[in-house]
Amino acid sequence: MAIKEGGRAVFLDKDGTLIENVPYNVDPTLIRFTTGAVEGLRLLGDRGYRLFVVSNQPGVALGRFSEQALSRVERHISEELGERGVSLEGFYYCPHHPQGALPGYAVRCSCRKPDSGLLTQAAREHGIELTRSWMVGDILDDIEAGRRARLPGSGHCVTKSAGLRGREPILKE
Ligand SMILES: [Mg+2]
Ligand SMILES: [Zn+2]
Repeated sequence: MAIKEGGRAVFLDKDGTLIENVPYNVDPTLIRFTTGAVEGLRLLGDRGYRLFVVSNQPGVALGRFSEQALSRVERHISEELGERGVSLEGFYYCPHHPQGALPGYAVRCSCRKPDSGLLTQAAREHGIELTRSWMVGDILDDIEAGRRARLPGSGHCVTKSAGLRGREPILKE
């Protein structure tokens, strides 16, 4: 089991990075990890990185699904990873969208990527040093969120087709 040295994290986008992207899906039975994701996360965990999901979920603001449905997704992912020896320390999401349909969620916020609110909140709540941490995502908004949070590793964009197979540069610090 990994020795937690404390402090450093890998922040993971969810859709198209950790799991295959099925738009607005909250059905746990349709959730599939991307190729190599679980193995990559195990390696990162073994090296002392603490793992957090940071995800835009505008489907909440748009009325496509509830936060309750999303917490079932969170539990499913966390359990599936746990059974495979990967411990997910936190699951942070932005439920907002400026053009949302639901009052209270239809706002311009600071947590929707490319803003860095999810990363800074996770860092604050878990004692993470952002300057020792990384962001992994499949689109440039993910990388921009990392850049705004001042992560040194935010330039490493892992493409959708590559899943987490692009992890090697991360491990060569
Ligand atoms: Mg994505
Ligand atoms: Zn937000």
